[in-house]
Amino acid sequence: MAAKRDYYEILGVSRTASVEEIKTAYRKLAMKYHPDKNPGDKEAEEKFKEVAEAYEVLSNPEKRAQYDRFGHEGLRGGAGGTGGFDFTDFHDPFSLFEEMFGDIFGHRTSRGRRGSRHTRGQDLQMKLRLSLEEIAHGTTKKIKIKKQVVCEACGGTGQKKGSQPIVCPTCNGRGEVRQVSQSIFGRFVNVSVCPHCRGEGKIISDPCDVCRGEGRVTGEETITLNIPAGVENGQYMTVEGKGHAGPRGGPAGDLHVIFEEKPHPLFTRHGRDVVYELYLSFPQAALGGDVEIPTLEVRKGGEELPEEDPNRYKHVKIHIPAGTQPGRVFRLRNKGIPEVNGYQKGDLLVQVKLWVPEKLSDRERELLEELNEMENLKPPKKSKSFFQRFKEALNI
Ligand SMILES: [Zn+2]
Ligand SMILES: [Zn+2]
Repeated sequence: MAAKRDYYEILGVSRTASVEEIKTAYRKLAMKYHPDKNPGDKEAEEKFKEVAEAYEVLSNPEKRAQYDRFGHEGLRGGAGGTGGFDFTDFHDPFSLFEEMFGDIFGHRTSRGRRGSRHTRGQDLQMKLRLSLEEIAHGTTKKIKIKKQVVCEACGGTGQKKGSQPIVCPTCNGRGEVRQVSQSIFGRFVNVSVCPHCRGEGKIISDPCDVCRGEGRVTGEETITLNIPAGVENGQYMTVEGKGHAGPRGGPAGDLHVIFEEKPHPLFTRHGRDVVYELYLSFPQAALGGDVEIPTLEVRKGGEELPEEDPNRYKHVKIHIPAGTQPGRVFRLRNKGIPEVNGYQKGDLLVQVKLWVPEKLSDRERELLEELNEMENLKPPKKSKSFFQRFKEALNI
């Protein structure tokens, strides 16, 4: 490496120049030497970098003071014994330029402001089956997922402990390569991810034995999910940063948890409402009376019982008026499913069904045959209109 030129000389300013003077000098020179204005001109590119480096030091009071006292050596970490700045601490000359002038040459780079790009880990997707009870009240689930996790042996760097990665020689650590081409339409600047280091700017010199330089290994993690009440089949929640770990210290992807609702043996969900089918015998429907209806609320000690056992649940008593018709619906307010993150709650709809036995004893047959002779128990000649039944079913 050739001897470094004096920073003041590079910018063409005096040793006592003000910050403003230094800035003005840098603007002028950076514009003049920018590679996009001097395609293919290696010397201009070198000058452009030199100017950026000089500006970076002289615009920073601490670095400038160190440079004034110790010269270039003062800026090299350790070498001057001053614990000074390392050269790797420098801005990429292009991002420095873009910070000051904006993206005037029109390359939208996705790189971070400083240094190299890190590849993000992939997103993960998983299905989570929930019971209607869990959906009604919200729940906390601990789930174990298999995924790429940060390699503990190297701390995710991919580099064997005690060794250092090297700056990518293809892109000089910038993580991208530029190609300028001339055509009849004008000049094109093509910026692409460096194929050598995949945009990371660094290359593993001595790969970690455990992850072979990937910085991540197949492992598992237990994650606690807080699921709000009211979620629906097919809805999902995203847990940021809980997907696969990124390679070599890259940020982790996200975890998408998709909800799947298990069918319930006693209740059917209709949006926020829950339907319970209540079977009544003909005498019950005709005579009326009180019946107990299970709700989605589990009673004390009920947790042990299976979902299909009505004794698992708290019951509410409802009154069935005499002459209740099959299909009629009783609405129990606020006994349904809550809105996700909302204040509304659905209802429990109790739908009356008529229970008809499939087998009869002799005594039952005898009684039913006797009842069957009674005129009042026979349906009227003219049956009720559809509209009438509809009104009754809706309880209005
Ligand atoms: Zn490793
Ligand atoms: Zn590279």
